[in-house]
Amino acid sequence: MPGGHGSMNDLTRPSRVVELLRQFDLSPSKGLGQNFLVDRNVLEKIVALAEIESSDTCIEVGPGLGTLTRELAARAKRVVAIEKDKKLSPVLAHTLALCPNVDLCFADALQVNWFEVLALYTPPFKVVANLPYYVTTPLVMAFLESPLYFERLVILVQKEVAERMLATPLKGDYGALSVAVQYHCEVSVGAKIAATAFFPPPKVASSVVVLQRRADPAAFYGLNSQEIFFKVVRAAFGQRRKTLRNALLGGTEYSLSVVEKALARSLMPDNVRGETLDVKAFVALANIVAELI
Ligand code: SAM
Repeated sequence: MPGGHGSMNDLTRPSRVVELLRQFDLSPSKGLGQNFLVDRNVLEKIVALAEIESSDTCIEVGPGLGTLTRELAARAKRVVAIEKDKKLSPVLAHTLALCPNVDLCFADALQVNWFEVLALYTPPFKVVANLPYYVTTPLVMAFLESPLYFERLVILVQKEVAERMLATPLKGDYGALSVAVQYHCEVSVGAKIAATAFFPPPKVASSVVVLQRRADPAAFYGLNSQEIFFKVVRAAFGQRRKTLRNALLGGTEYSLSVVEKALARSLMPDNVRGETLDVKAFVALANIVAELI
């Protein structure tokens, strides 16, 4: 079987998870989003979507009991697993005992400097993780904005977060995250997962999202300045109830003349709101601003 562990030791069996928790005197922490994967089909689906090659370095955030970690270790060159909960150290030492290519690091993934953590590892870097809800957005943004190239991110997230990543203009959940993800990556939902795939089951449904990075997003979209683009996007969604004109005046240092000329040259009406612009429209606007300043 994948991972080289016998079926008695299959960590996706709910009874095995309960036994491990009892053996190591653990109870799942709600605050840390500890909903452990107990569905082998889902586990295999995630691993297949990750398209891991033997030269890859996999980064896993939140190994938990090591269920996904073991599958990654069986396929990748190395696995770097970052876990916030130090109490999981003994159980992980036990479940990962046969995985010499896993490096465990007990730290808060939101605080780590990926450049330092991964200094000794070789790309390609692939992120594969079953993420707690509260870390998803800041963590994905950190991976996308890092100077390191995280080639592919296959992440299990709350269904609503997946919808936000894929949202298009004028949908309620369209926002700065949608634009950033769609700018940097080709994004798709790889699978929809019921709450019963986890122990304990969360209150919400989940999705596996696949983010395949574009090698050169600026070239792909014909963007001149990434800095201006993200400044415009942040301002547009920072004050999304305002018109784009007022959001840009309030959220950037651009002068009234620059903002008005840019909107006029983009052939946008005076009262247009930022949430009506798709990535290409933001690119066009940012390129005009770049010419005007
Ligand atoms: N990978 C395991 C699985 O699929 O069964 C566990 C997934 S569980 C949803 C999330 C894991 O992330 C937990 O082990 C939790 O302790 C860990 N975690 C929560 N916040 C974290 C953070 N800020 N940094 C690193 N790990 C975190």
